[in-house]
Amino acid sequence: MRGIHWFRNDLRLLDNTCILALADCVDEWLPVFVLDPELLGGGGKRAKVKTPRAHFLLDCLERLEADLDARGVPLQVLSGKPEKVLPQLIRETGAERLSFSQASTPLARRRDDRVASAVMKAGAETLVLRDHTIFGPEEIRTKTGGAYSVYTPYRNTWWQAWKQAPRLAAARVRLPKKVIPGFAKQNRLDQIEVDRVEIEQDLPPGGETAAKKRLRDFLAGPVADYAEDRDRPAVDGTSRLSPYLRFGVISIRKCIGDGLKAAESSARFDVGASKWMDELVWREFYTGVLENTPRVLGGNFRPEYDALEWNDDSEAFTAWCEGRTGYPFVDAGMRQLRATGWMHNRVRMVVASFLTKDLLIDWRRGERYFFELLVDGDPASNNGGWQWAASTGTDAQPYFRIFNPTTQGEKWDPDGQYVRKWVPELREIEGKAIHSPGKRCERPADYPAPIVDHAIAREEALAAFKKARQLSARHP
Ligand code: FAD
Repeated sequence: MRGIHWFRNDLRLLDNTCILALADCVDEWLPVFVLDPELLGGGGKRAKVKTPRAHFLLDCLERLEADLDARGVPLQVLSGKPEKVLPQLIRETGAERLSFSQASTPLARRRDDRVASAVMKAGAETLVLRDHTIFGPEEIRTKTGGAYSVYTPYRNTWWQAWKQAPRLAAARVRLPKKVIPGFAKQNRLDQIEVDRVEIEQDLPPGGETAAKKRLRDFLAGPVADYAEDRDRPAVDGTSRLSPYLRFGVISIRKCIGDGLKAAESSARFDVGASKWMDELVWREFYTGVLENTPRVLGGNFRPEYDALEWNDDSEAFTAWCEGRTGYPFVDAGMRQLRATGWMHNRVRMVVASFLTKDLLIDWRRGERYFFELLVDGDPASNNGGWQWAASTGTDAQPYFRIFNPTTQGEKWDPDGQYVRKWVPELREIEGKAIHSPGKRCERPADYPAPIVDHAIAREEALAAFKKARQLSARHP
């Protein structure tokens, strides 16, 4: 039997659930990737590669093609709508199976339904398996069978499920035995016309080898101090695996499996690795929230905040985007995002809180801006993070707990090293004072004064959130 594997957010060969399953049921295969110009934002026939995420994707794709070439397997890269080009390839190859990993967003699921029916008409069956997360939301349920909306009990049940039946990663790459002949020279990545728009961000290298090295290096040392270092943006104390996990360049099962091995190696590693694996479980949690409650894309998880009157201040929004709010910790984060397509988690929480509480600007605007720039931009985690910070989400920060952007900086960047790196105007200021220019030290002329007074903005945010809750209680 012949089969085709359609790569999507699983751009790797090691422990690829669908390829392993395909290897069990077909003799000959071909892998394919579909560049959909519309999805990449080009419109028309040429894909436009203009965001950090699209550039990273392309890099991963080139490396995947090379990894497959080294095994004598020609990756087919097609341009167009998957529901059109995949049935065509099925007819050309005589394949009877098309494997692909299960999607999480409503948009991708609708597309997959269209693909499945077009593929069936072309005479093949689909083989759809979960790969992006370890457990699906249907597997992690409350005692009464409901979906979790609070992380801690979700995490406890998640770990119980893992202990009962651990889903360990395959140790070796296993592919179907033979390749469908006749496709070695066609549909290569360099034959596809792509508009590469130059970007200013300095991105990490794509591909499976880089991802595996990063995991190995992190678990060999930095993970031991992860519990303390993870909140210090000046320290390179987190794994930086998020872009790789986003595109499935590394398997989530491998991360958990190797994390457990690191935890077993010593008591010190156990603390850090356990904390780190719990972060991976946050990723599973938010993916589950999106799959269970697709309306979170675009809507508050908590409808009691639907009546919130957001502020429509474009000038303030632009200042936030450009890192010119006059709050050094916030500005450093926004400039790190612009320069690298990545931002440290602690700072993501603070800048998101600043936008939604201090500026009272709708979380959806921040979510969109992040998604545009983040190399790890993931619909589920991004939405989860934003709704957490805005207090509108599952297990969110309560509305009355509002980060103080100055004391957050003083606490997590005590000597100002992080701010000094990203805000050159403040480079000459020594120590903690860097977080309060104009108060604890002179404000350099080229650095803006705070665009809002945090104490006043905090009171206004509390009043707005209370009002929305009262309105919703009156008109549920
Ligand atoms: P590590 O600390 O090494 O964690 C390991 C992995 O666990 C991460 O790679 C990630 O896959 C997962 N993880 C860690 N923290 C979280 C979290 N809070 N929620 C979900 N998964 C988590 N993460 C994304 O991957 N994509 C996003 O688009 C995204 N948007 C965010 C937006 C906001 C407003 C906030 C507050 C957080 C967002 N996060 C997002 C979560 C988190 O900031 C990043 O996953 C993390 O900073 C990535 O760095 P790392 O790989 O070094 O993480």
